[in-house]
Amino acid sequence: MSAAELDNPAFQDNDLAREWFEARIWPDGPKCPHCGSFGEGVTRMFGKKHRPGCFQCNACREQFTVTVGTVMERSKIPLHIWLKAMYLLSASKKGMSTHQLHRMLGVSLKSTWFLIHRIREAMREPFFGTQMGGFRKPVQADETFVGRRTSRAGEVRQRGYARRCPGGGSGRL
Ligand SMILES: [Zn+2]
Repeated sequence: MSAAELDNPAFQDNDLAREWFEARIWPDGPKCPHCGSFGEGVTRMFGKKHRPGCFQCNACREQFTVTVGTVMERSKIPLHIWLKAMYLLSASKKGMSTHQLHRMLGVSLKSTWFLIHRIREAMREPFFGTQMGGFRKPVQADETFVGRRTSRAGEVRQRGYARRCPGGGSGRL
């Protein structure tokens, strides 16, 4: 990987990274992860009460962000750190040690371990290897990459996290 690739602004800024994930996960616009409504069925929430990137579903009234149902869900690690970690872990052919990643990301070792664990879990999904062939062609790759965890979505919902815009990327560590 080149230094230029690591200069990607989406690796430095939580909002840019969120927009990056939104564009990949929702190529046709925001979609409710709970009932599948989209288009005019969802409303973007504005104002201080709502986290940026928060949407409300007009059909089921649940609020959501792009991270719901992905490996980033309910993590406090900023989204640009997630994106950079995913990039580094997938772009490094020889693999990357925890300490290397820790240094490159500038987050705690504990956060680094967490990221590696979650991202590797997503990377085990079928077809991940072939689809991840090119990070530069992420449109096809990222649905798998960020791993919508369909089998666990129900479980998460039952625990009642669906209210108040669950999901990762609050921008705080
Ligand atoms: Zn809905």
